[in-house]
Amino acid sequence: MMKLSNARLKGKVAFISGGARGMGAAEARMFAREGAKVVMGDILDDDGHKLEAEINEIGGEALFLRLDVTSEAEWQRAISATVAQFGKLDVLVNNAGITPYGTGDDTTVEIWDRVMEINSKGVFLGTKTAIPEMKKAGGGSIINISSIAGIVGSAFVQPVYHASKGAVRLLTKATAIQYAKDGIRCNSIHPGPMLTPMTEFTRADPERYQLSVGRIPMGRFGEPDEVAYGALYLASDESAYVTGSEVVIDGGVTAQ
Ligand code: NAD
Repeated sequence: MMKLSNARLKGKVAFISGGARGMGAAEARMFAREGAKVVMGDILDDDGHKLEAEINEIGGEALFLRLDVTSEAEWQRAISATVAQFGKLDVLVNNAGITPYGTGDDTTVEIWDRVMEINSKGVFLGTKTAIPEMKKAGGGSIINISSIAGIVGSAFVQPVYHASKGAVRLLTKATAIQYAKDGIRCNSIHPGPMLTPMTEFTRADPERYQLSVGRIPMGRFGEPDEVAYGALYLASDESAYVTGSEVVIDGGVTAQ
């Protein structure tokens, strides 16, 4: 059974885009353990439904909804369905994202558009759709998953990824300022290399892995829960005075 005494998100309703696997799934499990009703929106139906069942079976409250973050109509349906099921929306984690590997001259216009659509436009659409519901709820917390790639460059990830995550960093600050008076907070999280399906490609190639792990002062990739704990803090009322900030969780990469 779940332990809900002293739950840090008791009574809150949280929506997590890209919540079917990886860091989004870790956040969904952790938020549910801390008393939130969680909705995962993703294009991975099987993974999403499995996670929904897993959380519900251990006494949590979860719902999986199919969502492609590039579609405004799908965002509207997903947020409406969340409010229909759980009554309101308090927390949005804009987590869905993709990473293309390569250099600037490898980047086709199609890749540029696709990465910006998912990683940047997806965050804009999620935010735009959530704000009216958060206003109705009397406030809320938007947590945008950027990256250390939104702060510094790198040798082996396509520059468009950095551009897309840098856009998320400043979209976060503008949102924080514009909605502060509505009680809506907005912060970004900047993970370093993490142990999720996204980095399997890097970890499978010894040379690429060494290049990546060699940049990390702590000498290892992060665990999904190590980012989820940061999201939990930003989702909870413990961070009531925190908005427009950047939470860096990267084993020391950007301290160098
Ligand atoms: P992941 O690939 O394991 O999970 C990403 C999820 O996003 C998947 O479930 C995927 O289906 C979903 N997604 C992709 N496109 C989507 C779309 N159009 N609509 C809806 N969902 C979509 O990756 P992860 O490592 O868990 O990454 C989560 C977030 O963290 C991403 O935004 C990523 O850029 C960021 N990030 C990851 C790392 C890392 O090292 N893994 C580091 C920094 C930042």
